[in-house]
Amino acid sequence: MSIALGLDIGGSGIKGALVDPASGELASERKRVPTPESLEPDEVLAAAVELVSQFEGSGPLGIGFPAVVQEGTPTTPFSAHQIESWVGVPVARRIEEQTKRSTLVLNDADAAGIAEMRLGSGRGQRGLVMILTLGTGIGSAMFIDGTLVPNTELGHLYLRNQSKVAEQRAASRVRERDKLKWPAYAKRLNEYLVHLERLFSPRLFILGGGVSRKAEKFVPRLKVRAEVVPAALRNNAGIIGAAIAAAEQ
Ligand code: BGC
Repeated sequence: MSIALGLDIGGSGIKGALVDPASGELASERKRVPTPESLEPDEVLAAAVELVSQFEGSGPLGIGFPAVVQEGTPTTPFSAHQIESWVGVPVARRIEEQTKRSTLVLNDADAAGIAEMRLGSGRGQRGLVMILTLGTGIGSAMFIDGTLVPNTELGHLYLRNQSKVAEQRAASRVRERDKLKWPAYAKRLNEYLVHLERLFSPRLFILGGGVSRKAEKFVPRLKVRAEVVPAALRNNAGIIGAAIAAAEQ
């Protein structure tokens, strides 16, 4: 399998690296450009194309994107920032035309999940595994016996008498914004995980995103039946998973 390029488009940065899809190892250094502040499609796509041009080769390109993505096109607004103008933009086609690389665009949490299942905390795990990325928003990826159920949006589940979606209560950004101490944050996260468990009964929760580095501060306080472990790949999961998905499409 030829070397693939993985990109992860986020609200503050676009990151990328060449990846050997067979091993999941990075095959170049990781590069980053800031996401244009407008978060509008034309500007963000131009920045992504510019980042692609910094890498050698012409192998497949996989892009993790923070929305529901169907056939290369976002069908929901961009991330927790809720930028509506992305809905219906043919992201994969536009990037493919400009970069001449065969391009696959998928949800960012699905991309990170693919990498975690292959190479990280989900390796060899059967049954229902749920991966949550706790960052600016909450992304989710669900696997059954290692197969992805694409585009789950469990960060948008309503909690508390329908007054708020989960990502507005339990994302990493909310912990920082509201200056929540770890016990208070763990309580919110637990409320969310208990609800997910009530609905789906996963065997394993894998928690990624910013807070996963501090797992010891809140994971011991969580009271769910399922096992809860931090993600193993941290920052590069989205890039690696996107590259693997593109190489295998
Ligand atoms: C989006 C998801 C995305 C998550 C993490 C949410 O706001 O709806 O599609 O996976 O943010 O970026």
